[in-house]
Amino acid sequence: MNPQLATQLRHLRLSGMAEALPVRLEQARSSPLAHLEFLELLVGDELARRADRLFARRLKQAGIVQVKELSDFDFTFNTKIPRARLVELATARFVASHQGVLLIGPPGIGKTHAAVAIAVGAIRAGYRARLRSVFDLAQDFLEAEASGERRALVDALTRVDLLVLEDFGMKKLGPSAAEDLLEIFVRRHESASTLITTNRPTEDWGQFLGDVPAATAILDRFLAHAELIQMQGKSYRLHQRARSAAHGPDSRPSA
Ligand code: ADP
Ligand code: MG
Repeated sequence: MNPQLATQLRHLRLSGMAEALPVRLEQARSSPLAHLEFLELLVGDELARRADRLFARRLKQAGIVQVKELSDFDFTFNTKIPRARLVELATARFVASHQGVLLIGPPGIGKTHAAVAIAVGAIRAGYRARLRSVFDLAQDFLEAEASGERRALVDALTRVDLLVLEDFGMKKLGPSAAEDLLEIFVRRHESASTLITTNRPTEDWGQFLGDVPAATAILDRFLAHAELIQMQGKSYRLHQRARSAAHGPDSRPSA
């Protein structure tokens, strides 16, 4: 292969083509390809690589370190978990219609797994997502406050197509963080999707927001329109632990 060609392709930002070229040339030698077919394959390689990169970038922006899929979720373990509704959410149609979702259930039931799978579904559908636990969020607000970037943080959390707030009600926010969070809620309401996971009854949320005036009213508005999904059953986390204690640390739960 002409090494200059590879350089030129990279120069044109066609590194997917440059990378695939040796293999495609080999393929063309072993089973003759029409010129057009050859070009189509290379263009396809470039597009596939761009899509992969965009997906990786969006996952990173979303704060998703480990991808989880509903196909890895064992729905036979807790049979009351509404499979069809979670699968529907992972198609991201609810993001298009700016719907809110509340996943509520005890620790270890798979709320984070489901929330990540739904966010991954939204990213695949071309949306931007952001996943933060309230613990992260409390830290984000503190840091933003200290560096004078509070406005930028509020804007970023307002703009994203799907905001996933995990473990709602598990950590008390300071008054200014609570107010910022409420502003984010108000601005997203009916214009962008928010998915909340929690193991706390919604009555406790006021406390988490430091009983900021209007908190209840705003959250009630969210809850009035949100799809409520109850995840009931046993903790898969404890089940995993019991299994690895019984079979050694290398054992994996059967999917
Ligand atoms: P929660 O957020 O509700 O506390 P997680 O989603 O963190 O629970 O689940 C704990 C662990 O168990 C994770 O590794 C998750 O992938 C796994 N898990 C939970 N439920 C299931 C399930 N039904 N099938 C497969 N893995 C599960
Ligand atoms: Mg969780």
